[in-house]
Amino acid sequence: MPNELQKRDRAVNWHPYTQMKTADDAIPIVKGKGVYLYDNEGKKYIDAVSSWWVTLHGHANEHIAERVYSQLNTLEQVIFAGFTHEPAIQLSENLLKLLPDNQEKIFYSDNGSTAVEVALKMSIQHAYNQGKSKTKILAFKDAYHGDTFGAMSVSGRSIWTQPFGEMLFEVIFIDTPNSENLEELKIRIEDFADDVACFIYEPLIQGAAGMLVHHAEDLSKLMKFCREKEIILVQDEVFTGFGRTGKLFAANHLSEQPDIMCFSKGLTGGTMPMGITTCSEVIFNAFLSDDKYKTLFHGHSFTANPLACAAALASMELLLQQDTQLAIERISQQHADFTKILQQHKKVENVRQMGTILAWELKTDQGTSYFNETGKKIYNEFLSRGIIMRPLGNVMYLVPPYCITSEELDFIYENIIDVLNLFLKMK
Ligand SMILES: *Cc1c(COP(=O)(O)O)cnc(C)c1O
Repeated sequence: MPNELQKRDRAVNWHPYTQMKTADDAIPIVKGKGVYLYDNEGKKYIDAVSSWWVTLHGHANEHIAERVYSQLNTLEQVIFAGFTHEPAIQLSENLLKLLPDNQEKIFYSDNGSTAVEVALKMSIQHAYNQGKSKTKILAFKDAYHGDTFGAMSVSGRSIWTQPFGEMLFEVIFIDTPNSENLEELKIRIEDFADDVACFIYEPLIQGAAGMLVHHAEDLSKLMKFCREKEIILVQDEVFTGFGRTGKLFAANHLSEQPDIMCFSKGLTGGTMPMGITTCSEVIFNAFLSDDKYKTLFHGHSFTANPLACAAALASMELLLQQDTQLAIERISQQHADFTKILQQHKKVENVRQMGTILAWELKTDQGTSYFNETGKKIYNEFLSRGIIMRPLGNVMYLVPPYCITSEELDFIYENIIDVLNLFLKMK
């Protein structure tokens, strides 16, 4: 029976990625603390997916809260055209120090999708400003770069994009690289290289596609080839950024540097919406001109919002602390150890782990699909055990906040094995 909040919610709210006709009542969350979320009936849940991959240091983090509160009392918002402020300057300075050394400029927006939109506009206009027209974009099959039209266009065609299929712009989709297909990929790209504005990719791990991984070495080789062909490299680190892959950025695993990078999700530790697109001097310089038409005409009302900047600054301070770095190492090691156990389970296949991200597939008769029914049963079973896991079809994964303790992780692992055994009996 829906409770009062659930009734009110159903009367007015339309939830994301949710078929409202058949959806269960949403669970009202009244507070969060650390790795836990609490519902209105006092039940607590471990947030094993970092609330859609955003929460780095746990919920209601005091350090971030204090900094945001203090900023709120000083300057909450100011137009970022013609004006600037300390938090934005400081955040840009701090972030650039951590990024590949060719990254020189920061462009602010609101979320991961807008960070991608900005990157696409930078790439296309980079060519335009030099009197060239490059109309094609290169992306990975099954990519996910967001839900706005540009971001959707460069994402793999799927049931998510189907109603808009005809209206999405032209993108050439290639397989992710491996030691066998690299030459083939090069030959394919060669054919239309002159026409390609950019290559956009999720480095090393394709999140929404189901945590699909490829090797740093192969991606580096593909990047190198694209660079030789003067194709701009747009590295979407919206998910992989800020420690997820075990290093600060996926870039730290790669031997080639991207031209443009996109960030969001963990950028503010998951506390405030914010997107960032960074670029190299070469990209930036193509927009410097006495000709007004060469300006990057893009901006959002909340560009470089001081509160979000303050949250990001505070989150990055926490991230760089030794404790947090050690926690990331510990989580990665615990995942690696658990991988060995998981691999042996009869109902499990394709276990993959990268830093704090652990994913595997459930063997079902329904195959790998976002709509795999098993996912929902498993989701509910974990909820009843006080664990939030949200399978992507039959792909299950853990992306915990870095504040999770080894005991809490063990609790999740034990429940995973339990649920898998239950699942074994069900069949
Ligand atoms: C989530 C995600 C996005 C989109 O970010 P939003 O803030 O949800 O718009 C873009 N790229 C990648 C790799 C993502 O995982």
